[in-house]
Amino acid sequence: MNYEAVIGLEVHVHPKTKSKMFCDCATDYFGKAPNTHTCPVCLGLPGALPVPNEKAIEQCIKLALALNCKINMETKFDRKNYFYPDLPKGYQISQYDKPIGYDGYIEITTKSGATKKVRITRIHQEEDTGKSVHEGGVTLLDYNKSGMPLMEIVTEPDLSNAEEVNAFAKALKQLVRYLDVSDADMEKGQMRFELNMSIRKVGETGLPNYKVEVKNIGSISVLEKVVQSEMVRQAELLDNGETPVQETRGLVNMTGKTRSQRRKENESDYRYFPEPDIPPLVFEDPYIEQLRAALPELPVVKMKRYTEEYGIARNIAETITFEPENAQLFEQIIIGVTDNAIIKDVANWFTGDFTSLSKNVEISDEFSPAELVEIVKLVSTRKITKDSGKKVLEIAMTTGKNAAEIVKEENMTVVTDTSKITEAINNAIAANEKAVADFRSGKNPNAVMFLVGQVMKEMKGQANAVEVTEMIKKQLES
Ligand code: ZN
Ligand code: MN
Repeated sequence: MNYEAVIGLEVHVHPKTKSKMFCDCATDYFGKAPNTHTCPVCLGLPGALPVPNEKAIEQCIKLALALNCKINMETKFDRKNYFYPDLPKGYQISQYDKPIGYDGYIEITTKSGATKKVRITRIHQEEDTGKSVHEGGVTLLDYNKSGMPLMEIVTEPDLSNAEEVNAFAKALKQLVRYLDVSDADMEKGQMRFELNMSIRKVGETGLPNYKVEVKNIGSISVLEKVVQSEMVRQAELLDNGETPVQETRGLVNMTGKTRSQRRKENESDYRYFPEPDIPPLVFEDPYIEQLRAALPELPVVKMKRYTEEYGIARNIAETITFEPENAQLFEQIIIGVTDNAIIKDVANWFTGDFTSLSKNVEISDEFSPAELVEIVKLVSTRKITKDSGKKVLEIAMTTGKNAAEIVKEENMTVVTDTSKITEAINNAIAANEKAVADFRSGKNPNAVMFLVGQVMKEMKGQANAVEVTEMIKKQLES
């Protein structure tokens, strides 16, 4: 039987703040000694009062706006009650019926180039729990992470397969990095996924009558693997006439295999009620509009500008825009360039030789990346060959010299004096009778390339290979 998945995601993202969500404890706890970043508030001691972090809320609003969400102008915090040793208050301060943002969407593009709008149900603000460490038969508790701000993003069940889940996760990660509201460093647990998944026969439209939840997935590749392994597991059950159990499953290992953990809680189990220690928050229009106006150009818009306006190929544009820092550098390089053909060439060089050289050579402090434009211009106007261009780039990057200077010093200017080229062609023809005969008889049309190679060698590469090819053909065919 052919099935497709019905997948919704919940994503928890650590915003970039100096202090925790409801206290002054510093957020730079990663790698620090346990319980060194705590206070009565984040330890849940009686009588301690939470004070909301304005910066965290601001970042949550920015993300909500960038996800095309509506904003609840009057919002509040609620207590979500459940017991875990790493949740010392016995409840988590979260948001229930008035999330900061709701009814949004994000546009994703999968590897195969298909685009889809994934609806965002809500985005709300909450706090993280501490961490339980199970060691030598005992459980140790580290409360450094307790009370860290979290943004929770919930999607509608709009994703249908692992490829779309991958595209969504990457698009969201890219978005928070563009907005500079999170580094989304998964190694540090700054972005975590929860998957809700069921499957249905291809062609069916209603939601299946069960769903399986998989919590705490800390990497995009593992997330994809979970989708694939759940697809197989659930399909087997359905093929046997069974319905998969509605439950929470945990990761067994990084291969994406899961095992049953517990029956899923119902919302009523959490006994949500308004947080009595924090007054409701009321936002004013000018505040929201000021945040909206300050949003940077978003990745989707940037991609459209690169591909539609400059004519840059989609995969090249994707490579450049993936990291905001990279796109920023590219845009600095093309400042003042008005010719789109040059911009397109610069994009190719930028993702090609420029990137590989950046990783492999020691770059001089004197080097100005804008020199790349000069090199591209020299190559595109055929003043130097493409191979020379690569050499010029490497010298420029390692020495900081400018392109014109290097071309002169290295004597790279392409010879346009046709009499010199003609002489070299005559020499090549005279010295290679067999190749000439093979070409003329039609036995080997590629023999001409051998002759071009001989001419280029004599010209020390300083001729235009396309022109040389044409000139040889003309001479041999006459
Ligand atoms: Zn604290
Ligand atoms: Mn949550």
